[in-house]
Order: sequence, then structure tokens, then C-alpha cells
Amino acid sequence: MTQAVTRVAIIGAAGRMGRELCNAALETEGIELAGGVERSGAADSLGADLGELCGVGKLGIAVTEDPPDNAEVLIEFTTPVATIEHLSYRKPMVIGTTGFSEEQLTRIEEAAKDIPIMLAPNMSVGVNVLREVVREISGKLAGYDIEVVEAHHRNKKDAPSGTALLLGRAATEGRGQDLEEVAVYGREGVAPRREGEIGIHALRGGAVVGEHRLIFYSEGEEVEIIHRALSRRTFADGAMRAARFTASAKPGLYSMRDVLST
Ligand code: NAD
Repeated sequence: MTQAVTRVAIIGAAGRMGRELCNAALETEGIELAGGVERSGAADSLGADLGELCGVGKLGIAVTEDPPDNAEVLIEFTTPVATIEHLSYRKPMVIGTTGFSEEQLTRIEEAAKDIPIMLAPNMSVGVNVLREVVREISGKLAGYDIEVVEAHHRNKKDAPSGTALLLGRAATEGRGQDLEEVAVYGREGVAPRREGEIGIHALRGGAVVGEHRLIFYSEGEEVEIIHRALSRRTFADGAMRAARFTASAKPGLYSMRDVLST
């Protein structure tokens, strides 16, 4: 039986993730690359050939300001403001953008009443499996001090990363706590550790794709969990899996947990 094809448009096509997503779309069975979208001021990329932009040679698809009508799923890796604007296309969406405010997240939840939306600050299989592991061991290591340290390339806009928050939230879920009540973002001056707090620290530099460390300290031992993304392709492959899932999903807000459980 031939596999049904999902036609996707990449929004933010000229970005670090956008180029990787175009490559993944071209190489993934069951995915067809229908278009690439860039912001109105992106003079270098608007009108350019999408394949040439992504380094795979001419495809005969021009980068446009709006997704083509035949795109079934929009894959959005841009900025929070742009993502919220693009909800108005009212098409199934895979959202990888990070750094949303509470108000912006509410807008996404509202839109998901009418369209399927898969929202994940990290689309790698490893991080999403780790999320379950962290939830379990933070409950078992109750009373251990938790610190989260993340590192990303020098151009990353939001801090801490969406993944650091996701893993911090998993740790608090494992202890029946609320991350917002126990998180401390960096420390400065006189800042003794309060019982139960979770320190979250962001390093920025060079070309680091993404590294997350969770450390559990007691007086007698230290347990450390590390995830390193070795290439952006790992996120792009997760986004393709998410696009296949979202194309046939009912309206609603989904996470990578839903995608990976199918
Ligand atoms: P980037 O700055 O390299 O690329 C963003 C692209 O979006 C740029 O080309 C920009 O011109 C374009 N853009 C901005 N506004 C737009 C608009 N209104 N319409 C169309 N295009 C627009 O950034 P990046 O490193 O590719 O990261 C993009 C986002 O993805 C960030 O929020 C980052 O944190 C997130 N990210 C998520 C994952 C994940 O697995 N979920 C992985 C890596 C990065």
C-alpha cells in the first residue's frame, strides 16, 4: 500500500532550523515540501529558490510571504510574535518556536480549539524520553537539590531555553510542585539556597546546538543527567514525525508525548 503524503510548508525557511527542516522534508518518506515562507523584510530570501536556499540545488519552489494553499501542515520555527500572527492561517501547525509569554500561550490554546496544533520546545526523541525519566527520578530523589544548566549558541534569543523549562517542569511534576514557585533563574549577590528551590542557569556562546544538564545533589552524592543535541537534524526529524501526526489529528493542543506514543 502506498503511504499517504503530507504536504508541509516551512515558516522561517531561511533560519538555522528552517534550512534543516527543508532538508529533512525532502528526505523523509511520506512528506512533500510544498513551500517555504519568510518575513516580509527578508530581502535575501524572499523570491529565492527554496532548494538553493537550503543548499540542495534548484527545486523550482520560490520562498514566499504566505504559505501555498496546498500546504496541509505549517511547520513554524520563527519568533513568538510571528508564530502568533501565523495562527490566522488556520491550518494544522507544528510549532517549534520557543519563548512564548503566558498570554501568547493562551492565544495558541484558543486557536487549538479549531485546529490541531503540536507545540514542543524540543522535538528530539532523546529529550522527550528524558522528560519521563526526570519526572520519575526527581520523585525518587526527593530532598536532593536540583540545578538545571543549559548551553546554546551565541545567537539564541530566549533564556532560559524552552527545554530547560520543560525539564525543570518535569522535575517539579515528579515532586508534586509548581516550577513557577520554586525556580530561581541564576544567582547573584547574597543568594543562599532555599529548601526545594530549582536553580536554572543559561550559558550562551559559540555554535553550541543545545546542551541540558540536570544535577541532583545530596550531601553524599551527585547524580547528573546530560542531553547533547549533536545536530539540528534531530529536531527537524522530530518535526517531520510531528507533521505526519498533526495532519490527521483532530483539533486540539498536542505535545511530543502524543506524537511519540503513536
Ligand atoms: P533563526 O533566527 O535562525 O531563524 C528564524 C527565521 O524565522 C529567520 O529566518 C527569520 O527571518 C524568520 N522569521 C521571523 N519572523 C518571521 C515571519 N513573520 N514570517 C516568516 N518568517 C519569519 O532561529 P532558529 O535558530 O532557526 O530558531 C527558531 C526558533 O526555533 C527559536 O524560537 C528556537 O528557540 C526554536 N528552536 C526549537 C527547537 C525545537 O526542537 N522545538 C529546536 C531548535 C530551535
